[in-house]
Amino acid sequence: MKDVKVAIVGAGPAGLGCAVLLKQMGIATDDMVVCESNKIGSSFTAWPKEMRMITPSFPSNGYHQTDLNAITPDTSPAFSLGKEHPSGKEYAHYLRSVAEHYDVSVLESTKVTEVKQQNKDCFLLQIESGEIIKTRYLIWAGGEFSSPRLNTFRGSDLCLHNSQVKSWDDCEAEDYVVIGSYESGVDAAFNLASRGKYVTLLNTGHDKQETYDPSRVLSPYTAERLSAMANTNLVELQQGFQVDEVRVAENVYELLSTTGDKLTCSGKPINCTGFDAHLGAVSGLFDRTENGFPVVNQFDESTLYPKLFLSGPKLVHGDILLCFIYKFRGRFIAPCSVIAADLGLDISILNDYEQAGMMLSNFSCCETQQCYC
Ligand SMILES: Cc1cc2nc3c(=O)[nH]c(=O)nc-3n(C[C@H](O)[C@H](O)[C@H](O)COP(=O)(O)OP(=O)(O)OC[C@H]3O[C@@H](n4cnc5c(N)ncnc54)[C@H](O)[C@@H]3O)c2cc1C
Repeated sequence: MKDVKVAIVGAGPAGLGCAVLLKQMGIATDDMVVCESNKIGSSFTAWPKEMRMITPSFPSNGYHQTDLNAITPDTSPAFSLGKEHPSGKEYAHYLRSVAEHYDVSVLESTKVTEVKQQNKDCFLLQIESGEIIKTRYLIWAGGEFSSPRLNTFRGSDLCLHNSQVKSWDDCEAEDYVVIGSYESGVDAAFNLASRGKYVTLLNTGHDKQETYDPSRVLSPYTAERLSAMANTNLVELQQGFQVDEVRVAENVYELLSTTGDKLTCSGKPINCTGFDAHLGAVSGLFDRTENGFPVVNQFDESTLYPKLFLSGPKLVHGDILLCFIYKFRGRFIAPCSVIAADLGLDISILNDYEQAGMMLSNFSCCETQQCYC
């Protein structure tokens, strides 16, 4: 049995961000392990080939304004990749370079299938291969890409979830319906229309929100692409069509709405309804909010199981989503500070995180979002 002080599950930006910070605080290599079921950054390598980061990268670190896609204050995907909107494959390359540079040891092909608390001082991680890892602290950073929403409505299985698309070149039909018009829905519509396909883009709900919080409204990158599509006759935006059922007859897909409206298309409908809040092996170890989000304390620690932390896009504090794109980077400090205090690590590096805007401890900036011009 491997016995460590800290185990991190997931080698995406959230898991690696915490791992690097602990390394910078001086944790010994043998005291920490990162378990990754696939390869470093595998959610990004699974993106459709054409998908790009929506957050722009810029090498602004020189004046304490970190590249928005960076996971440490002193690295920049814009600088190392020479791209403003890296592809998933490129971003995974950046993540691997960061892990190598900081000598973070990642156990790839190591899937954690079960987590149990042995006693209040340790967790046991069951690995798919049969191994067991014993750890005092556990940071769950398993992401959401492995739990796409595949059962949102009847007949969901007839659709293609956007996380299952390898390249939009593989979509050969003439016309498609894209369900969901947030980031991935607009991305799907844009890529299909760029290939000359007719697309009906379903907006299933909300009106424009008076905020510029990127966790709640379309990013400028996506909004710009949406307005570019308005000048073509290939994309039709349909408001308020809540899909109730999808069925197929004679190679035509029928979409029925909750109010009885009907749409048809010849290509498999593209499901862009997002991802579940499923937390894999630690699902039962967190209390849940009414909306199904895991409940954490001020250190992003489970309120049911102390020393179990959450890092990544499912983090919420009250009404604040930490969320989806780059904001969760500001929370690497929460679990790492608690662990550092217990293990007697050097926390002076936190000054760099604070200067770089990667130390989000006061959420008032997320509460009132005002833009004066
Ligand atoms: C259209 C779109 C555009 C996006 N653009 C941006 C952007 O511009 N900027 C941005 O910051 N974010 C962007 N994101 C979001 C970004 O992809 C996620 O927020 C980010 O991947 C979350 O990081 P993570 O480390 O939590 O999860 P992941 O990157 O998914 O990493 C989790 C890792 O955990 C592993 N894992 C899962 N379960 C287990 C297990 N049981 N055992 C071992 N390993 C496990 C997985 O294999 C995976 O490698 C975008 C997402 C989409 C859909």
